[in-house]
Amino acid sequence: GQTIGIIGGGQLGRMMGLAAKEAGFKIAVLDPTMDSPCGQIADIRIVAPYDDEAALQELAEVSDIITYEFENIDYDGLKRLTQIAHVPQGAELVRITQNRINEKAEIRTSGAPVANYIEAQTFDELKDKIAEVGFPCIVKTAFGGYDGKGQVKLDSAQQIAEAESLFTHSACIVEAFIPFTKEISVIIQRNAAGQSYCLPIAENIHKNHILHESIIPARVSPNIIIQAEEAATKIADHLELVGTLAVEMFVLENGEIIINELAPRPHNSGHYSIEACNVSQFHQHVRAVCGWPLRKPKLWAPCIMVNVLGEHVAPLKKVVMNYPDWSIHLYGKSEAKEKRKMGHVTIMTDQIEKTLKEIDATGIWA
Ligand code: ATP
Ligand code: MG
Ligand code: MG
Repeated sequence: GQTIGIIGGGQLGRMMGLAAKEAGFKIAVLDPTMDSPCGQIADIRIVAPYDDEAALQELAEVSDIITYEFENIDYDGLKRLTQIAHVPQGAELVRITQNRINEKAEIRTSGAPVANYIEAQTFDELKDKIAEVGFPCIVKTAFGGYDGKGQVKLDSAQQIAEAESLFTHSACIVEAFIPFTKEISVIIQRNAAGQSYCLPIAENIHKNHILHESIIPARVSPNIIIQAEEAATKIADHLELVGTLAVEMFVLENGEIIINELAPRPHNSGHYSIEACNVSQFHQHVRAVCGWPLRKPKLWAPCIMVNVLGEHVAPLKKVVMNYPDWSIHLYGKSEAKEKRKMGHVTIMTDQIEKTLKEIDATGIWA
């Protein structure tokens, strides 16, 4: 049988790997950690850093197709793999999305709307140029931020010093603060032939800058849905996407949207598709990287996805058996550290508001 090699061994790799295994593939995974969520389900484990020459060589040898499950892998290593193995997605999208400066520029070039922003290589440059964006604004490191880490909101010039430490590791971008009414995400998947589909749009609710709940379909007007799918399609076509791209967006009061950021992989806000769609984001990703025609996504029922962080695991396990409609996923991470993504729950429901209240009433996510 054929083997799909996955770079990165987190939960996204695990769910991607499980989908691939269901379709009859073997899985090889490259990840630096011993007991990664994807490593646990893999047929072949390569435990090594992402830039390890011998490990990359081995992955190339055992894999018929190579994909990745997150963007902060070693770009040069991925680039080298494209020369010695079949990497349908290429390396360019990872280069772009690893760096917010490149990412924003590409979104703008695609014609999709972005917040007014500037880039600053140094703190001095930030001080010189910040007036071009004004206040309030958000300063974000170009490299490596996630779950709101590596960013600072500035409400006035008096606060500028709070952004200085961001520059120790990276250049930054400064973007206008967007007073959004909602956050949504479009997961678009595309194959090399240029066929693409968006999954039903998720409405995302964050707590402490970490995704807490996704509600599907997003509770927005049909006009927003059209704009959001058009923007995602523009970006995907511009980037000549192969595989999966998650496009995070803000919805404004005036009925417009602004693109926040991209993730070149399956996304937390698409986990609902495992139960609630006729094709999960992971199955569709496998189809896309294999060069197969894509299935037109269809939502079986409205649903809510709730993230399970370290602190939620114990209280959830006490009661989850009493909720037969909750589909629980735990990723096999041994250490339930606070704020660490350990799993998620998907609930299909015809009464979104009522179910949101039930989730709150459990006290697990208080
Ligand atoms: P992720 O975990 O989604 O990768 P991240 O650390 O890369 O997050 P962003 O998605 O850019 O960071 O920002 C995190 C959150 O901060 C957003 O979901 C949004 O709630 C808020 N935010 C980011 N940029 C802006 C902005 N320009 N205006 C208003 N809020 C913003
Ligand atoms: Mg991000
Ligand atoms: Mg984000």
